[in-house]
Amino acid sequence: MSLSFLIKFFSTKHERDIKNLLPLIKQINQLESEVKAYHNDDFKKKTEELKKSIITDKANPLKVLPLAFAMVREASVRTLKMRHFDVQLMGGVVLYLGKIAEMKTGEGKTLTSTLPIYLRALECRGVHVVTVNDYLAKRDSDWMAPIYNFLGLTVDCIDKYTPHSKERSEAYQADVTYGTNNEFGFDYLRDNMVDHLEQRVQRSYYYSIIDEVDSVLVDEARTPLIISGPSESDTTKYYEIDKIIPRLREAKADEQGKEIPGTGDYLIDVKDRNVIVTEDGGKKIETLLRLDSLYSQKNVEILHHINQALRAHKLMQRDVDYILEGGEVVIVDEFTGRKMEGRRFSDGLHQAIEAKERVNIASENQTLASITFQNYFRMYDIVAGMTGTADTEAEEFKKIYNLEVVVIPTNQPLIRNDHEDKIYRTEKEKNNAIVERIYTAYKNGQPVLLGTISVDKSEVLSVALSRRGLKHEVLNAKNHSREAIIVEKAGQKGSITIATNMAGRGTDIKLGTGVKEAGGLLIIGSERSEARRVDNQLRGRSGRQGDPGESQFFLSLDDELMKRFGSDRIANIMARLGMQEGEEIQHKWISNAIGNAQKKVESRNFDIRKHLLEYDDVMNSQRKYIYQERDYFLKHENLSEKIEEILEEVVADQLYHFCSDREILSEQAFISLNKWLPGFFGLDNPYLDKTKFVKEKYIDVEEKLVNEVKEVYKNKTNSHPQEIITSMERSVLLHILDNRWKEHLLRMDHLREGITLRSYAEKKPLTEFKREGFAMFEEMVSNFKSEVAETLFNVKILPQVKQTSQLGRVMNVANESHDTVDSFSGPMTPGAAANSKAPNQIRSAKTIGRNEPCYCGSGKKFKRCHGES
Ligand code: ADP
Repeated sequence: MSLSFLIKFFSTKHERDIKNLLPLIKQINQLESEVKAYHNDDFKKKTEELKKSIITDKANPLKVLPLAFAMVREASVRTLKMRHFDVQLMGGVVLYLGKIAEMKTGEGKTLTSTLPIYLRALECRGVHVVTVNDYLAKRDSDWMAPIYNFLGLTVDCIDKYTPHSKERSEAYQADVTYGTNNEFGFDYLRDNMVDHLEQRVQRSYYYSIIDEVDSVLVDEARTPLIISGPSESDTTKYYEIDKIIPRLREAKADEQGKEIPGTGDYLIDVKDRNVIVTEDGGKKIETLLRLDSLYSQKNVEILHHINQALRAHKLMQRDVDYILEGGEVVIVDEFTGRKMEGRRFSDGLHQAIEAKERVNIASENQTLASITFQNYFRMYDIVAGMTGTADTEAEEFKKIYNLEVVVIPTNQPLIRNDHEDKIYRTEKEKNNAIVERIYTAYKNGQPVLLGTISVDKSEVLSVALSRRGLKHEVLNAKNHSREAIIVEKAGQKGSITIATNMAGRGTDIKLGTGVKEAGGLLIIGSERSEARRVDNQLRGRSGRQGDPGESQFFLSLDDELMKRFGSDRIANIMARLGMQEGEEIQHKWISNAIGNAQKKVESRNFDIRKHLLEYDDVMNSQRKYIYQERDYFLKHENLSEKIEEILEEVVADQLYHFCSDREILSEQAFISLNKWLPGFFGLDNPYLDKTKFVKEKYIDVEEKLVNEVKEVYKNKTNSHPQEIITSMERSVLLHILDNRWKEHLLRMDHLREGITLRSYAEKKPLTEFKREGFAMFEEMVSNFKSEVAETLFNVKILPQVKQTSQLGRVMNVANESHDTVDSFSGPMTPGAAANSKAPNQIRSAKTIGRNEPCYCGSGKKFKRCHGES
């Protein structure tokens, strides 16, 4: 890299960032000769020394950085024969500091990340490297393993193993753990659904580097991770509602997009991607479904399903928004064209699409656990990210994640020629022009990568190319490993490759012989996507490491982006420029107008993500509380303090509820208490002696009652070994907490759906959601406590194994999730979302073998412990 190039770079806005890094880079370079003199074996020893100095002697890792980086560089030279470029050292420092390093495609981000990974791993708190697909997770961990091993560190990849397996948990114990964002997130959720600590796999959330960080924290941030399981409700309603949709007519809209009354049953709102039932439509639906009023309280659910069915039919397109695969509806990310395996549209939309497509309707799923990527990654002490395209979203990274973006200069100057967009009136004219452009490139021996924004657009263009006799490959992110192989060849002479956004991502395209002379790789964009960043990703596939290359976008007024935003303006500009039919146009005004339209969409999408996060933040504080409680139940060897606390609260709350006079116990309160105590705690009936309690001070009664109830519980339990009691208490606590939480999640989903309607009542939906959500949460926690108290008192603890039926029920749940993932598909299953199986595959509870370890965790065999007869 020439100095003059760097100096040129300094004149840009990123000058200071890079300038500040230079002294460190100099220090690393100065240490090169020193580490060159190390013997191979010295590296491992040195690693141990560095660990000790950081952990035991509390040395500042930043002081260690130059030597650590120099060692990694040398380890890479000796193992992989690659020497980190200076710009990679810069990227490494940025990542170490917990920022985002924007490094163009082909700059070698995988190798760059080994530097901060090594240094952070020395702290022995676990380093997570996050990739967007399992192919990359496995490839990168295998590829970089020789460096880590040479330095004496262990590395593994979670995606190689099944959830909950021993191997998976060992992968988390490694110094460096690679994996996909989905699996890291699901492991977190699954870990918070276990019944025994040993079933957990994750160990810490210290430092993570997210590869393709924009894809994970921006694109994917719109859909939360959800572990769901079947709920009881039946699915016939979806078919019934689906049947009436073809009988409804679309209404006409006036110029402002408002319904012209009397013209139809529903109105499509293209801008907001919404369908609205008109007044006429409402009446027709009432007749068709034989309802008295569609809008009455009791029919709210039906109206909801009708809206979803309309969206399924009128807005959701097969091969654009979803595809059918093996009789299942699989979501396609509209943004990236990537399949979102195992995810389902929420609120019954997925079922409505299944009804529309006449495939099996998976019974309604209910959320058992969910988290957004935003909140998952916020748990880490330090998050760093790398990508070729972050700068356009720098504001979002800063605001939402407090992540700064630093643009790292390229190793070689970028000489790719990015042409002005070409615009056509119709899609057909545009596609013809694309085919002709590809034909010319092909004749000149120039390889072409044609980017599309959706799977169906890929197919249209593929047909057009075949008609012109042009052989090509089509990639649509269906098979990551095969696509990587194809993309690698996309730079060969005569190659033509069509790819959606995510397809083959992460594999860089090297140029074949003679291609440089032909102008390098030609990138053709067949449409502008919703974000400039995504277009830049496409362009960035060409011109790596100083290679020549070109990029050209072809657009038409029929394009989605143009239709939704700004085609009028652009049509005006085109008219002013005097454009005739069949002609193309290329003008800065238009490119700017389109850039502005994209900015509009970007900020709108930013709002959507912010909105999702604001709602998830409410859930997040609740989730944290519940998970903390669960942790407590799992980790404590004696739960009696917790139980006492619960008993105190339950008794005090109930007394408070019965006794309006907080001074003395009234006659009425006495009667209520005397009914409640025997019924609830199974105490003697009548329990209270009137002469003893009535007219006593409220506060004394409270204290006495609490003490007596605690005493009764102690008497009930103290004839049994403590470990049996704790194991019983733990099961009761976990089981009831999980059930209550599950119910609460469903109620919160409904609350959220209903609350948007209230914006009409001039109330802020989010504030309302927070207020009501909090009240519901408090209610849930209080119900949880009284259910626990009631269960504990009513359970009969028989000597050793012969538990009462009620206790047995609780224990069964604990058994069920004891070993593998399969048996996990029970009541607490990470069903559809986690392992993309149909949620109706519930395995029955496993019966425990007499020689297997006992479920209570005592370490004894079942027959010698709870199984002793
Ligand atoms: P990115 O993810 O930044 O697009 P990759 O990590 O896939 O890039 O690396 C791109 C290519 O560059 C790989 O083939 C890698 O082997 C090569 N590469 C990276 N760094 C170096 C280096 N310092 N010396 C030689 N080759 C390198």
